[in-house]
Amino acid sequence: MDSQINGFTGFGRHNPGFVSAKDAIRKAEIAAQAAKNDPVQQARQTLAQAQAFTSGLGSGADDANAHRGSAHRSAALKFAAPVSSRDSGLTFDPEKLARIPEADRRWAWVEVDLSAIRHNTQAVRNRLAHGVRLMAVVKADAYGHGAVPVAKMALNSGADYLGVATVDEAIELREALIGAPILVLSQPPAEAIPLLLGYKVMPAIYTADFAIAYAEAADAFGISAPFHLAVNTGMNRIGVRWDQAAEFMHQVGFHRALELVGTFTHFATADCTQTLDFQIQTKRFLEALSALRMAGVDPGIVHAANSAAAIRFPDVHFDMVRLGISLYGFYPCPETLTTIDLKPAMSVYARISDVRTVPLSDGVSYGLHYRSRGAHTKICTIPIGYADGLRRSLSSRVRFLYNGALMQQVGNICMDQCMFEMDPYAHGLRERREPAIGDVVTIIGGDGDNVCTVEGMCELLNTIPHEVCIDFGTSRMPRLYH
Ligand SMILES: *Cc1c(COP(=O)(O)O)cnc(C)c1O
Repeated sequence: MDSQINGFTGFGRHNPGFVSAKDAIRKAEIAAQAAKNDPVQQARQTLAQAQAFTSGLGSGADDANAHRGSAHRSAALKFAAPVSSRDSGLTFDPEKLARIPEADRRWAWVEVDLSAIRHNTQAVRNRLAHGVRLMAVVKADAYGHGAVPVAKMALNSGADYLGVATVDEAIELREALIGAPILVLSQPPAEAIPLLLGYKVMPAIYTADFAIAYAEAADAFGISAPFHLAVNTGMNRIGVRWDQAAEFMHQVGFHRALELVGTFTHFATADCTQTLDFQIQTKRFLEALSALRMAGVDPGIVHAANSAAAIRFPDVHFDMVRLGISLYGFYPCPETLTTIDLKPAMSVYARISDVRTVPLSDGVSYGLHYRSRGAHTKICTIPIGYADGLRRSLSSRVRFLYNGALMQQVGNICMDQCMFEMDPYAHGLRERREPAIGDVVTIIGGDGDNVCTVEGMCELLNTIPHEVCIDFGTSRMPRLYH
């Protein structure tokens, strides 16, 4: 680091070339005496004086701060590197610095309870007939919960297969030495085929061009090209039309490397009260399967159910269910609430970073839209904002938990911070006490008898839990596991 540009100048005693302001003035006075009758000397002396002052003033201020913060300075010495005999100047040891916990670097963080992942995997597993596989869908960094730890825990708790959205998501799992079968739930670009083969990751396939390119690349290496056939039964997102699935396999099946490991479809309305469209998709999928079998094609592992269908409709479990949102502890729809016990794995916390009493009718945050109610009301700041997944459209609508009581967020949510209001003497607080910097605030999670849920936030945002937990979990906040 270059102290000239980063603003951290050394103190005089650590800096051999250093001239303090006092010394500079003294030197300048002597020089002035000597140069009384010499104009060239006089000019030089003025310049030297100016330079000495600039350098001296900056370091003088640092020195004053160092005295005021001497407690922090001695604490900081813990982070010094071992001092060599030649060099007595202290430096910070990068390894020791790296050990400062993430939640102490910034007071906003996500916690993931891996035992909840275990609980949810087992809760669904218990509803499956013997022999039905369970795919843990860990796309989008496991819906923000962390792909690698979630995948490991799910596989440890009864999952057999992993589902991801992208080739890179699959590679991340392989690099963490996860050996379970991985399916990319859509067809990647053909350019990614060497990665699929190299990392042993199966693609979903629905075009003949991709199938042939994949088969030929595998053949060149003398290996097989396993894949799952994606069938479109009505969602109209990806896949071969249900009434063309047999024809498609006839087209590409000649290739000796291609290996149809599974056949799947995806429901558009498994979480809707009305089940007619779901039934139409099921019927079409069954038609595709029987057409494949009639053509002498073994469809392999047959799968269709996402969380909602896995919990609501055992008839469509087939050979595997694909568990996404309920793996993370969320109920995909109200119909599933009484059927199964799920535990949310994610919670979000912050610590109060500033507290103040704002005079009556003074504004708070951008736009000053909130006006203080004065007197007893404290305005507390927490360092979490819309860059951390706390969406700005929640401004003045969301509530947090402090000491077991619900606190109204006030003013616009900023990028990195937001404020909430607290009346420490209002009833509802378990303990009446003044809020203080460092106190924990629950953004998502339970505290005492109250709970702030992802679902509650979803109602305010008109969205689904998938989006809310991905926003928090994949933000810049650290994730802590327990
Ligand atoms: C994301 C996804 C799932 C998981 O859906 P949930 O509703 O989260 O359980 C299952 N199948 C496919 C094809 C998906 O893309």
